[in-house]
Amino acid sequence: MSRDINSKFWDEELETLPRAELEKRQLADLQEIVQFAYDHAPYYKRSFDEAGVKPSDIHALSDLQKFPFINKKTQRDTQGVGSFLGELAAVPEEDVVFISTSSGSTGVPTMSPFTKKDFDEFQDTESRWFWQIGMRPNDRYVHALNFSLYVGGPDVIGAQNLGALCIWGGTLPSERLLFILKTYKPTIIWTSPSYAWQLGEKALKSGYDPKKDFNIRKIIVAGELGGSIDATRKAIEDIWGAEVYDFYGLSDIFGACAAQCEYHDGLHIAENHILVETVDIHTGEILPPGETGELVFTTLRKHARPLIRFRTGDIGRIDQTPCKCGRTHGRIHILGRKDDMFIVSAVNVFPSDIEAVIREQSGITGEYLIRIFEKDFTSKYAVEIEKNADNPKDDETVAAEISAALKARIGVKPARVVVHPDGGLNTRSEHKSKRIIDERNIDYSI
Ligand SMILES: [Zn+2]
Repeated sequence: MSRDINSKFWDEELETLPRAELEKRQLADLQEIVQFAYDHAPYYKRSFDEAGVKPSDIHALSDLQKFPFINKKTQRDTQGVGSFLGELAAVPEEDVVFISTSSGSTGVPTMSPFTKKDFDEFQDTESRWFWQIGMRPNDRYVHALNFSLYVGGPDVIGAQNLGALCIWGGTLPSERLLFILKTYKPTIIWTSPSYAWQLGEKALKSGYDPKKDFNIRKIIVAGELGGSIDATRKAIEDIWGAEVYDFYGLSDIFGACAAQCEYHDGLHIAENHILVETVDIHTGEILPPGETGELVFTTLRKHARPLIRFRTGDIGRIDQTPCKCGRTHGRIHILGRKDDMFIVSAVNVFPSDIEAVIREQSGITGEYLIRIFEKDFTSKYAVEIEKNADNPKDDETVAAEISAALKARIGVKPARVVVHPDGGLNTRSEHKSKRIIDERNIDYSI
């Protein structure tokens, strides 16, 4: 396949479809996938019947609002039930060629299966994002994302299909990655925003000037909010002398479902694959496009495990007004997670996991306080606890034990554990204890 490398579009017709045309396609695919899900996935048959809705009720996109939501818990409760792939899956296992899994930091990891066609369309979408940020066949690309189980790993195939020279970096130690940047002179790299910043700092400390000694001109970031925070993006750009693009993915759908264009004003989402609704986070009531709420996605073309009205837990809004780049697919702006999840070193940390660790430890009261803060553009967390009066261990030992337990459970240790005497924390004095203090300068208000 040869494309005009001067064209800004990977698939011009698709990317610039007039809104009415795009919605016509969405409707046809929605009708097909909802029927397919009903016919082949036991969960949907049951839940649609219980809700008194039928696939044939869908005559307009808004008719989807009559259908029930699903969420992460639905995935967890149905996987492995009846078959290996579970009751949300709509194809037999022999049609599945790939599964990714979520990190499992909130419980049992959820798996996301793909048929061959699902996977090929996933990669075509990744090629489209890479092309959108300016990757061309003459680029050298380092994919510095985790390959183990993670849905972001295979995205590199999208770059290869585009024709770029791909280096499957994975999670190499920084020294080796810097060696690759110095020796092979790649032009584009994808990593997390905090790691992009840390790697730049490390390069400077190692005597490199990232602007002169390397040839990186574009940096793709994902997995943390940083790429959409202007100050963080600019800080990374200043170190590297490269342009930073934010991508957004969901283990449940694609490695990247949405990506910034050269205007960096929200992330274009592949509306030919994903129908976006925004709902009130508490009531589930539909909000008009442009209002901020929980994003709800329906996958229009994934057959292995269709997601019909999946509540993502991500808070954001969609802007469907035309973008200056000429693309008509809407742009999402993500503000953060609905629950109190925070991300440290690209690991999702949930306060409930910290609580679980604290409550399992002996010799401490079980009271705790979590502080989330930002240092060097990276989120960190600290935990404060209370030691029982009769605990003979010294504070350092108690702190070290808790730090190790948190690292074992969560994958990333706290920046510090502060040990107070029994009653030293103020967490019990209020009716509803405030246990999480977010000191970061990020506006999560909605
Ligand atoms: Zn655009």
